[in-house]
Amino acid sequence: MAQRPDARGNNRERPRKQATRRTQSNAAQRAGANPRPRPAHASAQHARPQQNPSGGKGPVVAIILVVVVAIVVGVVLFLTQCRGAQGSSSQGQSTQAQAASTQGTEGPASSDTSSSEGAGSGSNTSSSVDKSSWELTLVNKTHPLPSDWKVELEEVDDGKYVDARIAKQFKQMISDCRAAGYDDVFVNQAYRSHEEQQAIWDQFYNDYLQQGYSAEEAKKLTGESVAIPGTSEHELGLAADICSINFDETYNAPIQTWLRENGHKYGFIQRYPEGKESITGTKNENWHFRYVGEEAAKEIYESGQVLEEYLGETN
Ligand SMILES: [Zn+2]
Repeated sequence: MAQRPDARGNNRERPRKQATRRTQSNAAQRAGANPRPRPAHASAQHARPQQNPSGGKGPVVAIILVVVVAIVVGVVLFLTQCRGAQGSSSQGQSTQAQAASTQGTEGPASSDTSSSEGAGSGSNTSSSVDKSSWELTLVNKTHPLPSDWKVELEEVDDGKYVDARIAKQFKQMISDCRAAGYDDVFVNQAYRSHEEQQAIWDQFYNDYLQQGYSAEEAKKLTGESVAIPGTSEHELGLAADICSINFDETYNAPIQTWLRENGHKYGFIQRYPEGKESITGTKNENWHFRYVGEEAAKEIYESGQVLEEYLGETN
C-alpha cells in the first residue's frame, strides 16, 4: 500500500534529541572531570605515622623525622613532575608549564577537546571504511540505481523483504527496539521492486492531475514525496520505513528516537534528517532508515553528516 508520508509535526522530537545529547555531553564532562589524586594527600598520609612520641630520645626522633619528611617531599616532587609530563604528552600541544600549572583542572579540559574532536572528524580520520563498498551505494535523484544492481531478498517481517546480507542486523534491530519497550514497532515499507515504485509514482502523479494540477506541476509535487522510479533506496533493498503501527497518528513516536539513536549499532542511519533537505534532496523522513554498515553508520551518526556528505557527493 502506498502511504503518503506525513512530514508534519516532526519538530516534536527535536527537543528530546537535543536534551539527550546535552545530557550525554554533560555526563562525559563529568566523567572527564574526575580529579587526579593530589600529591598533598599522599604526603599527609605518609607523614602521619611518623608522629609517635617517644620519651628520652627526642633529638634522635627529630632527626629521623626530618629525614623521613625530606624523603617524602622528594618523592612527592618526583611524582608531581611525572604527572605533569604525562598530562603534557596526552594533551599533545600543551606546554609543560601549562600542564604543571593546570594539573588539577586539565582533566575535563582535555576530555572536552578529545570528545569534540572525535565527534567532528570521526569520518575523516582513522576510518577504515571502504566507501566504494556495496553497503554505501548512493542512490538519490542524481545517482540512479546501478544498472547491474542485483538483490537477493530475505523476508524480515510479515511480507517485508530486505537484502539478505542485512537481514540479520535488521531483525536484531527491530527485536531490540521491541524489547526496549516499543512493541508497536512496525515495518511499513522495505524492499520495493522497480514496478512497485513506478506504481506508487503513478498513483501520486494521477492524484495530482485529478486535483487539477498541470502535468508539470503534478510531476514536481509527486517528486517531493516519491522517489522517481530507479532512484529510490527501497529498490536497493537496503532501506525501510519503520514507525509505530499507529503511524497515522504517531509517526513521530519515540520509536523514531530510539531507532535514530541506536540504529547505528546495527549499521543503520536515519537517512533524511531535518535540516539536510538541500543536500539529500528529500524532505525530512523520520521513518526512513538505511543500512550502510556498522562502522560507517557509527561515523555518520557521530558526525551528524548525511550519506551524501559522508561520501563527498553533495553536488
Ligand atoms: Zn522510505
